[in-house]
Amino acid sequence: MADYRVLLYYKYVDIEDPETFAKEHLAFCKDIELKGRVLVSKEGINGTVSGTIENTNKYMEMMHNDPRFADLVFKVDEHDGHAFKKMHVRPRKELVTLRLEEEENHDPKELTGEFLTPKEWREAMERDDVVILDTRNDYEFELGHFRGAINPDIETFRDLPEWVRKNKHLIEGKKILTYCTGGIRCEKFTGWMIKEGFEDVAQLHGGIVTYGKDPEVQGELWDGQCYVFDERIAVPINRKDHVVVGKDYFDGEPCERFVNCANPECNKQILCSEENEHKYMRGCTHECRVHPRNLYVIEHNLSPEEIQARLDAIAEEKIAQEA
Ligand SMILES: [Zn+2]
Repeated sequence: MADYRVLLYYKYVDIEDPETFAKEHLAFCKDIELKGRVLVSKEGINGTVSGTIENTNKYMEMMHNDPRFADLVFKVDEHDGHAFKKMHVRPRKELVTLRLEEEENHDPKELTGEFLTPKEWREAMERDDVVILDTRNDYEFELGHFRGAINPDIETFRDLPEWVRKNKHLIEGKKILTYCTGGIRCEKFTGWMIKEGFEDVAQLHGGIVTYGKDPEVQGELWDGQCYVFDERIAVPINRKDHVVVGKDYFDGEPCERFVNCANPECNKQILCSEENEHKYMRGCTHECRVHPRNLYVIEHNLSPEEIQARLDAIAEEKIAQEA
């Protein structure tokens, strides 16, 4: 039963004292039994929270009553429970971690790329003089992306400026279309692009999530699923023709199921079928499989004989493949 909701939102706006704001905001969120993660900085707010319909309504109303957030846009998803285990509100130096030097930094309220509505974006995507640049991390791209988008294959957002400088030839002279999950990264990043000398930079307003909810475009030309930073991990976007682009870490088969490596010291997020999870004891390498604290082994109470049997099966298959 979808009696819970997940709210995703952000706004670049001056918040004078993020520490005090964070403390008070946390108390309020706990009071109305929300769970989630909210980041606050002098440049704004960015959050995902879950709660009952009643409590998420209270939250949105409270935020809209604050003049700073009167026009805050909430992306609302129905859900069958909380999407987080705890409630955190954390003060941060930057709202999105681009780690620009002081003199390089800019205020996205003053400098940002052109905003495209989902419909405008859908139309722009099919022009010949555009490049589509995904500003997200490698694992997000892997699960889903816009058809034909460039994958910078970065581990974190702060690597993106360097990628752009090294790969200018791929995007120069074209209209650059950037997108991210909810829009917050692009709103900052497109300003940096303009400062770097790129003239025609546009961003998908409200990000992938808004694009998927738009009644007209219905997520068209999006392939795979959208990675989200809560317990849902993946949400559907394309409601017209869903294509799976994720690939199983072990056998390369189409897959949209994320698991974390069972070695707690590794914890690497991989796409993996249920079958392969059992086969490989959820370990991304041999070392992770035989790690003394392998969580899969603990959860399934595997005996040393059972572990060895699975390791043997993996080794045998490998030999058969190489032969
Ligand atoms: Zn691992």
